[in-house]
Amino acid sequence: MTTIHLLGFPRIGARRELKQLQESYWQQAIDEAALLKGARELRQRHWLLQKGAGVELAPVGDFALYDHVLDAQILVGALPTRFGFDAAALTTAQYFELGRGNAHQPALEMTKWFDTNYHYLVPEWHAGTAFSANPAALLAQLGEAQALGLKAKPVLLGPLTLLWLGKVKGAAFDRLRLLPALLECYRELLAALAAAGAEWVQLDEPILALDLPPDWLAAFAPSYQRLAEAPVKLLLASYFGSVAEHADLLKALPVAGLHLDLARAPQQLDAFLADWPADKVLSAGVIDGRNVWRADLGALLTPLEAARARLGERLWLAPSCSLLHCPVDLAQELTLDVEVKTWLAFAVQKLNELKLLKRGLRDGRDAIAPELAGSDHAQSSRRASPRIHRPTVQARLAALAGGGSQRHRPYPQRAAAQRAWLNLPVLPTTTIGSFPQTAAIRAARAAFKQGELEAAGYDAAMRREIELAIRRQEALGLDVLVHGEAERNDMVEYFGEQLSGYAFTRYGWVQSYGSRCVKPPIIYGDVERPAAMTVRWAVYAQSLTSRPVKGMLTGPVTMLQWSFVRDDLPRSEVCRQIALALNDEVLELENAGIRVIQIDEPAYREGLPLKRAEWPAYLAWASAAFRLCCAGLDDATQIHTHMCYSEFNDILPAIAAMDADVITIETSRSDMELLSAFGDFAYPNEIGPGVYDIHSPRVPGEQEIENLLKKALAVIPAERLWVNPDCGLKTRGWPEVEAALAHMVAVARRLRARL
Ligand code: GLN
Ligand code: ZN
Repeated sequence: MTTIHLLGFPRIGARRELKQLQESYWQQAIDEAALLKGARELRQRHWLLQKGAGVELAPVGDFALYDHVLDAQILVGALPTRFGFDAAALTTAQYFELGRGNAHQPALEMTKWFDTNYHYLVPEWHAGTAFSANPAALLAQLGEAQALGLKAKPVLLGPLTLLWLGKVKGAAFDRLRLLPALLECYRELLAALAAAGAEWVQLDEPILALDLPPDWLAAFAPSYQRLAEAPVKLLLASYFGSVAEHADLLKALPVAGLHLDLARAPQQLDAFLADWPADKVLSAGVIDGRNVWRADLGALLTPLEAARARLGERLWLAPSCSLLHCPVDLAQELTLDVEVKTWLAFAVQKLNELKLLKRGLRDGRDAIAPELAGSDHAQSSRRASPRIHRPTVQARLAALAGGGSQRHRPYPQRAAAQRAWLNLPVLPTTTIGSFPQTAAIRAARAAFKQGELEAAGYDAAMRREIELAIRRQEALGLDVLVHGEAERNDMVEYFGEQLSGYAFTRYGWVQSYGSRCVKPPIIYGDVERPAAMTVRWAVYAQSLTSRPVKGMLTGPVTMLQWSFVRDDLPRSEVCRQIALALNDEVLELENAGIRVIQIDEPAYREGLPLKRAEWPAYLAWASAAFRLCCAGLDDATQIHTHMCYSEFNDILPAIAAMDADVITIETSRSDMELLSAFGDFAYPNEIGPGVYDIHSPRVPGEQEIENLLKKALAVIPAERLWVNPDCGLKTRGWPEVEAALAHMVAVARRLRARL
């Protein structure tokens, strides 16, 4: 019988119960016992749910109280030494300090988990890092699962992936030197799990989908040779991309099974089926763990039937990756459009899809005829729905000229036209868009959403905030003003709500890090802008002042990156649709007299594919989408973009290809290091490197800002340099914002006078 298993299940709970537990514990509203009891109940609920859905091997160890990579560090007894904690005797309070920092130590660095929006805590490796097996917590959870009558499969981060994800601290050395000791530790862990009754252990090695250096690749065979000595069956899990190029290596590894992500890379199945070793299981990850679309069961069954004919019982079924990246349960969505809802499947629904596939394979398609008909109907209704297909959008895109810049003339001539009317001083000052989202603003929005405040009252409240922001910026003496984004809850949701083709859930939360969750909108259909989105706010702000007010939009790549995206069109095409809708907005803003417009792209780098060979194609369509936003604008209209919190050095040509007149970037945390790359590359247009970090309430001193600006002046000619903070100010309070910006303006003026 085909085995159904999961790589992992969302741990936050259908109603973000884990978040409530964590935050109540941090605020000391509940004690440790209540936290741990709540977490245990949540795990049990998830296991019972899986059991009820027919999952035969339930994951154990996928439930982390804060982060699974932190848990892996504890498991191998290798916590960052700077905390001075003993992994074997770690308290719950200490556990959270690693993730959140304490009075003496900043938290572990956080970075994105492959190409997802989940952030993990980065291990810190020293030449002297030692490992010791610390399986107590995992064994306890294994016991919990077994007590529920489940056959449980412990899930561990594989040793090579764990090493790879860590950063070298202190003197440079090759992380692979830690491998032999780490493998010994894993052997102990595996032995302990086997002794506790685990038949299978899953080792996740998602780095197999990256461009791995040859020495890392070469380390797989000897490492797994060593691990295979343990008395358990190993299931090696790959995901997030194709591993077909390593097929020979993987077939020869002494593991009992291999998992493939067949949602991301369905074509790789052939490379493995061909001469799959007779003693190994092949786990087909056919249900998409990264997206929310209902599976096309009939279409999935075709390759699975062929695979089963070859493999028999050795074919297993699973989601493509851990369901961590999916919302929990669609059944809770009572306000979602009913037709759109029939096209979706969240984690719980995906379990049912697996069960149906299994029955279809075992008993034949006739045995699931009604369910197959339902699945077919969902697919065909989605294909045909007028909600999805807007001929006008498709026709407009088809008629577009593609290619290079969509502006009339190149940057130097545009810059002259812009200078002529803007009349800005050298080193002009500006901000990134948002001003403090005060309690009053949030209260007004909540009241409006609950129907306690009518539209006119809400509008008036937002106008008062905009006026306040304009007056304060004038008093500070800033050169290019913003309206402050008071009316926006979130930079993607705000636009998605006004565009066609977007749906919003009530409980579609996905963990981002720790207790933080995001609720990505769902792009299900052709995107179109039925009406102006920001124009009235921008025009109102501009009416209050004689200084230029910068319009503020979220760029097409960021709109895409922070949403669940339809799977019936290439991402590049969805991006073009969004760009076209934004172009309508940009032109309407220009027409209404808003002639400086910022199009934010903080997620531009995030969209990069895992494999470098795929970078050029992505960067080509991403920069083309940005240029499309600006098509047809007058040369005198100045386009800004903004990016933050990522590395840009290796994609500078693609950033330049966006051809924004001005880019503002976050740089102060790296002490302007980032900027020197822009200098070396000879970035051709204007740049505003952030001169202070907006993440802390600390007010930067004038000297500190001056030092950073001088560094910037050494790399970028003064006539192309702007002065601004690192990012938006919505999380700050007004007093510190006013003090910091006053310092910034004073420094700009002083340096100007000296130029
Ligand atoms: N304009 C946005 C703001 O200021 C930009 C936010 C971002 O970069 N993430 O809030
Ligand atoms: Zn930013």
